[in-house]
Amino acid sequence: MKVKTKKDYIASLKDQEVVIYYKGERVGDRTTHPAFVPHINSAAKTYELALQPEHEDLLTATSHITGNKINRFTHIHQSVDDLIKKVQMLRVIAHETASCFQRCVGFDALNSLYITTFEIDEKHGTDYFTRFRNYLEKIQEENFMLVGGMTDPKGDRSKRPSQQVDPDLFTHVVEKRDEGIVIRGAKAHQTGAVNSHEIMIVPTQNMMEGDEEYAVAAAIPLSAKGVTMIFGRQTNEERKLECGIDAGNSEFGMVGGEALVVFDDVFVPWERVFMCGEIDFTGVLVERFATLHRQNYGGCKGGVSDIVIGASALAAQYQGTLNASHIKDKLVEMLHLAETVYAGSVACSAMGSKTKSGAYYPDPLLANCTKQNITRFIYEISRLAHDIGGGILATLPFDTDLKHPEIGKYVEKYLKGVEGVSTETRIKVLRLLENMTGGTALIESMHGAGSPQSQRVMYQRLGKLGEKMKMAKKVAKADE
Ligand code: SF4
Ligand code: FE
Repeated sequence: MKVKTKKDYIASLKDQEVVIYYKGERVGDRTTHPAFVPHINSAAKTYELALQPEHEDLLTATSHITGNKINRFTHIHQSVDDLIKKVQMLRVIAHETASCFQRCVGFDALNSLYITTFEIDEKHGTDYFTRFRNYLEKIQEENFMLVGGMTDPKGDRSKRPSQQVDPDLFTHVVEKRDEGIVIRGAKAHQTGAVNSHEIMIVPTQNMMEGDEEYAVAAAIPLSAKGVTMIFGRQTNEERKLECGIDAGNSEFGMVGGEALVVFDDVFVPWERVFMCGEIDFTGVLVERFATLHRQNYGGCKGGVSDIVIGASALAAQYQGTLNASHIKDKLVEMLHLAETVYAGSVACSAMGSKTKSGAYYPDPLLANCTKQNITRFIYEISRLAHDIGGGILATLPFDTDLKHPEIGKYVEKYLKGVEGVSTETRIKVLRLLENMTGGTALIESMHGAGSPQSQRVMYQRLGKLGEKMKMAKKVAKADE
């Protein structure tokens, strides 16, 4: 593997020249920019933990192509066990970062394309699968981090891609040449984009006749000419620049760090193109990518919730309320919700099955159910954390007040909780809770891997309501 350690990962990002804008300014070295460092640290855990013997089983796998040991984030699931290990791995990493480590999206893009390119070739006689395997082998050997580029800006959502006034609001092919294609458009809300090596673009929705130029999947190095990344502002974004206690989780940040990735006539050689015009496979590709990402959420958010629960219990302990029966009950409820989301991820993995390509795929209905629960339960866990933590979560003075030569003593004295725990320790835990349970972190739980409505559409499609009506009719002996 070319990129093995955190050091290699950072060096590889430094080597790649990319165009990133942060707050209106072009970023020089992305690896030292304070707005990106937490996200880099978080993603680096996917490299670091893979090298630790106790995590090797979860974070590495054997390539079915080369037989070499690879990072699991570049692996194609070869069994139900692989699907379950993915979820276990995500929970373990979340325990270290308490934040999004971003690398799963590219992982899911790889698996969904592996399955789908096989089927496109079967129907259309194309050679996307061979191309894709060659590309995959390279990614496994290099151990690169990919962004999974699905979400298009979409403009007027009542209109199809080809009906938009501005044709670029969905990413599309503007030119086909002998050596490759030219892409124009953008992918929005791209988690981990600014600290990845490549982006794998896939269609954002099912395409219909007339939308052929929008049915495109391709791998693009983020250093390609014409790619510009514009970093999104998070809630409390400037806290990252302070780097102190007020940042809440200064080492790993809040969520993934999202960017708008613009493709201004980007050339992509054919060997990196894995769909080009096959509208009949866009819907299934979108569904697979979504299912594979929704599978994850009980793993990573389950792990993140474990930290929220731990921090809530510490906050209660530091203010002397841990043994109050209502606090214990709220903590039990939080534990129940966290294990429920994890159970969903494990269940959809355990009920996974083999596809024609040989790759394994989670149960789509259960994966959607997992993500739907996330859109509610993380809010409920956060609500309970706010309840337990108290109003102080919203009114804490600045870190600089605590450290102030004159007024520091007042903050120290009046924000003290139980004996034996310093005010600073108490504030650290409260700031972590504030960071993890508000703003961007919650919105990510709602809309990451697709908005709640997209899961409900899957319930309508896969929920077998008709069969359930028949079953009920039979038991009720309700002859019509
Ligand atoms: Fe991975 Fe979770 Fe972040 Fe998605 S939200 S990239 S599944 S850590
Ligand atoms: Fe996400």
